[in-house]
Amino acid sequence: MTALRAGGASDVGQIRAVNQDSMRVGPRIFVVADGMGGHQGGEVASAMAIEAFDGGEQLATVTVNEIVSRVQEANESVFERSAEDPALSGMGTTLVAIALVVAEGEDRLAIVNVGDSRAYRLTGGQLEQVSDDHSLVGDMVREGRITKDQAREHPQKNIVTRAVGIDRQIEVDDFQLLPRKGDRYLLCSDGLTDEVTDDDIAGVLRTVDDPDAAAQSLVDMANEHGGRDNITVLIVDVVDDGDLAAAASAAVPDADTFSHHEASDTATFLAVPDDQAHLQSSTTPAGPSPDSSASPDSGVPTKRQRAVTWRSVLFVAVVVGLVGAGLWLANDYATNTYYVAIDDGEVSIFKGRPGGVLWLDPSLEESTGIDADDVPAEFLDDIEGERTFASLDRARTFVTNVGDRITELEPPPTTTTTTTSTTISTTTTTTTSTP
Ligand code: MN
Repeated sequence: MTALRAGGASDVGQIRAVNQDSMRVGPRIFVVADGMGGHQGGEVASAMAIEAFDGGEQLATVTVNEIVSRVQEANESVFERSAEDPALSGMGTTLVAIALVVAEGEDRLAIVNVGDSRAYRLTGGQLEQVSDDHSLVGDMVREGRITKDQAREHPQKNIVTRAVGIDRQIEVDDFQLLPRKGDRYLLCSDGLTDEVTDDDIAGVLRTVDDPDAAAQSLVDMANEHGGRDNITVLIVDVVDDGDLAAAASAAVPDADTFSHHEASDTATFLAVPDDQAHLQSSTTPAGPSPDSSASPDSGVPTKRQRAVTWRSVLFVAVVVGLVGAGLWLANDYATNTYYVAIDDGEVSIFKGRPGGVLWLDPSLEESTGIDADDVPAEFLDDIEGERTFASLDRARTFVTNVGDRITELEPPPTTTTTTTSTTISTTTTTTTSTP
């Protein structure tokens, strides 16, 4: 049996007036939500997201699907409440949760996330981020355009690309990991990660044993570094694992292998008849992952491993290959396009297809600083018609043309006399001209 011990701390920070973060500390489901929206919207949204998990622990067995449905329920309730109450209009929240679930008769840890609150795992002394940030800067880091450190200081770091309660439909990432004794999990809002580097976070997690004390220490550190946002830290330690989990450990991949299974391809993943064979085949071609080398039991043969036949591995490899190619094409079609539209009164470049393709929504690529009201009439058709461009450079050229035209249309600046001495000398010359 797996046992967990947990502790958490949440603080308003040094600048904000209210704490819009919410958290739920176990016993089997742990959640951090970072609310956003004016008035009381943020607090209401994050509190509602947490409440969606109430009663979940009374179930005989919690499954990852159950956890994902709870997030979808949270999305519906926040979305509907925001539509009903004008004061709460547009509210939303991030959500990251970890839950002890049962899959295939074994204990697993399920992690779900929407938005830029994060889940980390400290294993063998190494800290790794399990979740992907659904944010503009998160996309830029994944594309290699900026580093994680640059993201922490980026002016647009607060723009999230997914949040609970904003749309009727929501895409939830989910990850499954084996509970290993000694592993430590961290859930946190961006108020921690914008102020404290991963190295400093790892330092605290390695040295402060008590989860409450470690969480408080991280909150204090974020406050010392500025505390520009609300800070919430929740730590979950795996304190005991059963023989079952240890025996299967070698056959089940770690976070790295799971990290690209987002909501939409979970269905594909489950459609494979022998799910364990899939797990096995997805680990093998990738070679040893950084984590598997640190795992003391990764080389131990198990019953599960022997059950995998080459035929099933080949079958799964073909299916995975076909699905992968399809996803790649869809992704390429959906994201290798740009268009120019008005965002918040400003001419902005978006990446993606207007309206999105499948689950791939367009994302704000860059704002241009051009006020929508200044756009000359001749460009309005292209902007309103969401004309697409094959590259970012072409979209930028279009925007440059708009800017140049605005400058041309501006009235020429009037010249004014700026010094008093000139005025005086002019007066002197006029007085001498008498016929
Ligand atoms: Mn925040």
